[in-house]
Amino acid sequence: MSRKQPFQFLDLPRQMPQRIPVELRVAGDWGELYQRFDKADAQYQAGRCLDCGNPYCSWKCPVHNAIPQWLQLVQEDRIHEAATLCHSTNPLPEVCGRVCPQDRLCEGSCTLEEFGAVTIGAVEKYIVDTALATGWKPDLDTVQATGQRVAIIGAGPAGLACADRLARAGVQAVVFDRYEQIGGLLQFGIPSFKLDKQVIERRREVLEGMGVQFRLGVEIGKDVSVDDLLAEFDAVFVGTGAYRYTDGGLPGQDLKGVLPALPFLVQNSRIVTGNDPGGRPIAGWEDQVALPDLAGKRVLVLGGGDTGMDCVRSAIRLGAARVTCAYRRDEASMPGSAREVANAREEGVRFLFNRQPLSIEAGADDEVIGVTVVETELGPADANGRRNAQAIEGSESLLEADVVIIAFGFSPSLPAWLQAAGVEGRNNGRIITGDPGLLPYQTSNARVFAGGDAVRGADLVVTAVAEGRDAAASIVQWLGQAKAANAA
Ligand code: FAD
Ligand code: SF4
Repeated sequence: MSRKQPFQFLDLPRQMPQRIPVELRVAGDWGELYQRFDKADAQYQAGRCLDCGNPYCSWKCPVHNAIPQWLQLVQEDRIHEAATLCHSTNPLPEVCGRVCPQDRLCEGSCTLEEFGAVTIGAVEKYIVDTALATGWKPDLDTVQATGQRVAIIGAGPAGLACADRLARAGVQAVVFDRYEQIGGLLQFGIPSFKLDKQVIERRREVLEGMGVQFRLGVEIGKDVSVDDLLAEFDAVFVGTGAYRYTDGGLPGQDLKGVLPALPFLVQNSRIVTGNDPGGRPIAGWEDQVALPDLAGKRVLVLGGGDTGMDCVRSAIRLGAARVTCAYRRDEASMPGSAREVANAREEGVRFLFNRQPLSIEAGADDEVIGVTVVETELGPADANGRRNAQAIEGSESLLEADVVIIAFGFSPSLPAWLQAAGVEGRNNGRIITGDPGLLPYQTSNARVFAGGDAVRGADLVVTAVAEGRDAAASIVQWLGQAKAANAA
């Protein structure tokens, strides 16, 4: 289909790929919700792009993808060229096409918004899935090995993006992770109905084909010291993520049947993918409780972000009789993607907005029986533009539940071993990078660089990818400077 039809966006509505029917999802199907476009659908949807000359979509995309250009290549069925173009800005395009909150990023700023934005994420996924299935791989023929080696701590999106860019610059990247598989939260956080774990396995093959090495099941600061890394490698990149749980300090949060979100999702992800559910626990949750059987239970999830949405939709697939999400602000203020909220609703999740939890209540045998909440109204906006939830006196009520999952968010914490290596952080646990006189992403130890959630706080896959990619550019620049200084 040629894009030369000027009003194609009017003739052809926006259409997402088909979804797994809701009856299968609620019956426990963990497959990726959105299927893949076939060639005709991808070309039709790509042809809706106006090529508007000032592509807001590219500006809003954190990695600044060349979106109109690859949409044009899709229409011309030049998929391998489109994949090469995708990778020129984004080391993990098939992952971002699946998990980005496009309604807040590229698609949310598409000129066609009124007529239905171009389905950018689904086309990105189509390009890379198709290209990889038909033998495309990154072309590193002209890359010359520099002989330099960089250790990457953390195989999440920041670490993987950094490894990709270092390999393309001829630098040997060796990625360490405490877990038994790569991906970080892509593997052990985001459920498989949003991201099939084979996608990560395939990306591992691509990276290994580029010469990237993985040393998994190795915890830096415990199994291997950062001093050992600094002795063996020319530089180190830290992409260790954000795993410090936001503690709401709710009375009763230690009761039986109350779970923090991440151990719940991690154990569940291990079970769904056939891994050992008792594999290496998450830092801070070494004594994590075993996953309770949710079949037939009333599950209450506290929190309205992406993590909360993943918990409610996982609970549905685990056979819970009733799943409720309680959030202290209104629906418009929810931090999660609107698309995920719509999917959760369709799967039968009940949302209670303007409900602030006060305490978790115990029954006779110390089992949780529910959460006392108070209704709220939104007050004036704070310095960040967010309106605070204010309790309405006398509106307390009990929400009954057999299992309560707490999903209040995460922040990073600076480990002692990094501090001992001279890496400075802020009070909120974020690693400080790029201070005056330093390169972007360089820390107070000149040989240590950092990016992703460990630096910016819990955020998005695509922002972690952008930081890993750009940190690699700084590392390459710094290694070049160091080499020149040594030669002088
Ligand atoms: P991570 O992905 O956390 O990876 C860090 C890695 O470092 C981990 O593998 C960890 O094991 C490893 N590590 C840590 N310390 C050490 C050590 N000492 N030694 C060795 N290895 C170590 N974002 C989206 O864009 N879309 C979504 O739909 C979405 N859903 C989410 C759902 C959940 C449940 C959560 C928690 C987050 C979600 N996010 C989502 C956010 C996104 O996953 C993160 O922002 C992103 O993964 C951050 O990437 P990262 O590489 O910085 O860190
Ligand atoms: Fe959109 Fe994310 Fe792809 Fe950028 S990387 S084009 S924001 S889906």
